[in-house]
Amino acid sequence: GLASRLQNVFGKLRGKGKLSEEDVNEALREVRLALLEADVNFKVVKEFVAKVKEQAIGQDVMKSFTPGMVVVDIVNKELTALMGGTQSKLAKANKPPTVIMMVGLQGAGKTTTTGKLAKLLQKQNARPLLVACDVYRPAAIKQLQVLGEQIKAPVFSLGDQVSPVEIARKGMQQAKDNHNDYVIIDTAGRLHVDEELMDELKNIREAVKPDEILLVVDAMTGQDAVNVAESFHKQMELTGVVLTKLDGDTRGGAALSVKAVTGCPIKFAAMGEKVDALEPFFPDRMASRILGMGDMLTLIEKAQSNIDADKAKEMERKLRNAEFTFEDFLEQMDQVKKLGPLDQILEMLPGMNKMKGMKDLKVDDKQMGHIEAIVKSMTVQEKRQPEIINASRRKRIANGSGTSIQEVNRLIKQFDDMRKMMKQFSGMMGPKGPKGPLG
Ligand code: GDP
Ligand code: MG
Repeated sequence: GLASRLQNVFGKLRGKGKLSEEDVNEALREVRLALLEADVNFKVVKEFVAKVKEQAIGQDVMKSFTPGMVVVDIVNKELTALMGGTQSKLAKANKPPTVIMMVGLQGAGKTTTTGKLAKLLQKQNARPLLVACDVYRPAAIKQLQVLGEQIKAPVFSLGDQVSPVEIARKGMQQAKDNHNDYVIIDTAGRLHVDEELMDELKNIREAVKPDEILLVVDAMTGQDAVNVAESFHKQMELTGVVLTKLDGDTRGGAALSVKAVTGCPIKFAAMGEKVDALEPFFPDRMASRILGMGDMLTLIEKAQSNIDADKAKEMERKLRNAEFTFEDFLEQMDQVKKLGPLDQILEMLPGMNKMKGMKDLKVDDKQMGHIEAIVKSMTVQEKRQPEIINASRRKRIANGSGTSIQEVNRLIKQFDDMRKMMKQFSGMMGPKGPKGPLG
């Protein structure tokens, strides 16, 4: 997939102490291929690579202590820009209700997303009304009603014998009467973009004057999703796109091309069939996901400005080789303290949120004092070879540090977990990184 291919390319780059123009060119050739294979629009790829190249070669990457990282950083920033740069938020009507109209082809996920979006809004204490305007697809109304029951949101329907425009109009009235602050209109789709579909949607639009017209597209369809977005945008003046099925085996092309091709921002991403599988779309997070590195770049940036280059380089080497002793642990604690609250730092490491025992790994600043005391009560040999710390040594360390055996046990367990995490982490930095959500 795209993520693993890009990680592969950058794994190679990162390993280099120096980068030549040829190294950069070669990496970019591979990036170009990876993007094309991920079904990203050809023109988009061309412009993207040109932009990255200009910066990577123009900038004095040699001077940085991790030139590979600088290139990755540029790619990350350009990927983010490609997807719109910053989060594009849902519009809000000056005078409620805010009206959101969902449009798209059949099976794209309109009805499901209507329910999910209502749930997201409810979490912000909003009171959405769902309006069932798909009178063609058998059981479409029922589907929306079931979703409504599930999330405890009202669903307005007039059955399938009334015109969608009429339903939309009456639905609006009901929302006003019941003081719903959002109206989400689920519409019918067809297998292809056609005039009849567009006419009906335009009529509904005319009747309800939506604040948002969200096109729901199936990310798995790649370039087709982008083409669909283009034709819908021409006819309907979309305000945003919802990408669905990002949990599936998608190649990522749609996420990367939609904004660049249509100018229309992605506002939400759906990653599953369940009703809470919808998230606001953040271009920077998606870029990091594609590059498979969590908020690694933020972390590296922080490290670059707070830690001196030699120490950071050494830290990186140790991380990579997973050679890590309690001595390093102590030193790193000092370094880490400079970066900010520890749990925030840990959260930035890729894979951490998925790790079992993440909760136990959380350390607050008060606990840090105890940890330091415990490590300082260890002999040099114990720090370097934690394996030798048996029961009697644990007891001695607990006494010496004024803590308990339980605390000592916990720390040694955490240290062990941390080492395992480092191994996982170094795997990600290397060529065989795990698959991200975009494969
Ligand atoms: P509509 O015809 O556009 O209203 O599409 P539906 O909402 O009925 O969805 C069509 C199918 O896609 C259903 O089986 C949904 O469960 C499924 N679906 C929708 N969104 C997602 C998603 O983000 N991930 C996955 N895996 N399935 C989805
Ligand atoms: Mg539907």
